[in-house]
Amino acid sequence: MSRVRICGLDTKVVRSDSADWDADGMGRMNSLTNTITLRRGMDKDVENHVLLHEVIHYICAVNGLPVGDDERQVAVLAASLFAFLRDNNFTAEKGCTEKVEE
Ligand SMILES: [Zn+2]
Repeated sequence: MSRVRICGLDTKVVRSDSADWDADGMGRMNSLTNTITLRRGMDKDVENHVLLHEVIHYICAVNGLPVGDDERQVAVLAASLFAFLRDNNFTAEKGCTEKVEE
């Protein structure tokens, strides 16, 4: 188990075995128990993408945002934000500002 903080709430991140999942299930969140569950055995890049997807669902749930009920919108936001963070080596300390020669 690991833990992340979302909207100021400590949230458990647990991995569970594939037997617990539907064929295409990769993640789920529960804002009542502050838990995000990820399917065990995913590639690290895929797992991070799925985690961000569930974080977006969580943010929407605790803030009453209807976009969280639209799977396509959540998927687009997660894929786009994940690519932005990964492709720009974003970290909280450094941001994503990379100096380039002009
Ligand atoms: Zn979803």
